[in-house]
Formats: sequence, C-alpha cells, structure tokens
Amino acid sequence: MRRKKLLMGNWKMNHTIAEAAAFCEDVKRDNLLKLARSKNVLLGVAPSYLSLQSVKKHSHGLIVASQDAHYADHGAFTSSVSIPMLKEININWSIIGHSEKRTYDGETSFTCNRKIKSLLAEGFHVVYCVGETAKEYDEGITKDIIKEQILTGLMNVSKDDISHIVIAYEPVWSIGTGKNASEEIAEDICAYIRYLISELFGKVASQKILILYGGSVKPENIHNYMACKDVDGALVGGASLKSQSFKALLENI
Ligand code: PEP
Repeated sequence: MRRKKLLMGNWKMNHTIAEAAAFCEDVKRDNLLKLARSKNVLLGVAPSYLSLQSVKKHSHGLIVASQDAHYADHGAFTSSVSIPMLKEININWSIIGHSEKRTYDGETSFTCNRKIKSLLAEGFHVVYCVGETAKEYDEGITKDIIKEQILTGLMNVSKDDISHIVIAYEPVWSIGTGKNASEEIAEDICAYIRYLISELFGKVASQKILILYGGSVKPENIHNYMACKDVDGALVGGASLKSQSFKALLENI
C-alpha cells in the first residue's frame, strides 16, 4: 500500500506570535502546500498554544497541531489547555507523549492514554510519540520500552479510531542532540511498531497507519529516512523552525 508522507514541525517553546505569522507568510510565498501536494506529502506544524489561533488562521492548508492537550475538558489544572479550548479555534490535531513532556513533566504512557482517548472522542488526529532513552538503548531494551508505550498509550483505542493516530518513533538520545539514529535503527523500530499495530488492530490498520521518525532530522538526512519502507515521514524540531529549512526538508523528501 502506498501511504502518504507526513512532515510535521514541532516548534516546542519557540516563535512568538509575530515570528509564527512570518513563517506562515513564507509558506504562502513559497507555495509550499502546492509542492507538498505534488509530492503526496501532508505538511504540518505544532506551534506554542499562544500562536495556535493565528497560525491556524494563516495556515493556508497546513495541518496545525497543539503540542499537548489535557484529558479533562475543564477544571483545576493550572497551565493546561483543554480539548474544547482547542476545538474553539478549529484545532483538530495534537501531539501527545513527546519525550520532553515525559522527561520534564513526568508524563507517563498511562496519562498519554487518557489524553489520546479524550482527543479521539472529539475527532482529533493524534501524533503519539514513543522512544527509548540512551540508557535503555544501551541496555538493549528498546523494543520492550516501545511495546509498553504502545500497549499502554493505545489501550482501549478502537479499530475505527486507530485511523486517527500517527505514531512518531523518537529515540530520546537523538532529539536535539545531532545524534540521529541510523536508517537501519529507524526502519527496524518503525517496522516493529507496524507489527505491534497489526497484532493489536489488524493488518489493514497496520498498513494504513503513518509511522514517523524523529530525532535530529535535517534537510541533509531526511531523504535517507524516507527511503525506509516503514518510515512514513518525520517529526522535526530544530530544523523546522526556519521556513527555508522547512522548505528544504520538504524538497528533500
Ligand atoms: C522533536 O522535538 O520532536 C525533535 C525530533 O527535535 P529535533 O528534530 O530538534 O531533534
């Protein structure tokens, strides 16, 4: 089955509202959406909460995702943003389980599962991030970690809803470090994730689901990952921030 590719920029805590607007202007000027369509690539960015509304307004067809969302629809959760708040500004994609949320905010796969189920119930698309730490990689337990993150994170997700999920394999040791995983590692783990999805949701779902690689992807190396059979795109941090670099990533897919 020929799957589309997805290139998603994760801006993390970067870009003011004005900077995000300038990025959108560049996307429009450079006709990136047209280029993406011609390459069968879905293109998206995940701005800060503050910039979401203006980026969505000026997105010209870009997918606009939040970097997280709370599982509850309101309540005493200082600093969090709820799904109804996102829906109000027409956001219907969210990243969940990014390693920086797991590392700095103690996010667990169990919490991810609550968030994912709440998002799916509201018709969102979710980019669910999984990946092992350097220590886990060195111990040779990468697949055990990935299995736990997939089984717990996707617990009680229905066969219908799995079509709204994208998985991003992001080894923690490769995020923002310049130490990108080899294509062999990326393919091995993405193929393993596809196998797990097949076991959990059936073969058809496993052939349809998009599985991304993330971790120090740059315009110079993205092509190598895209050549891997089970890698359907990339989740990119640093190299997605400047519009010229984002454009070069797309051109090199
Ligand atoms: C990320 O934040 O998901 C990421 C992969 O970052 P970077 O591309 O900077 O390694």
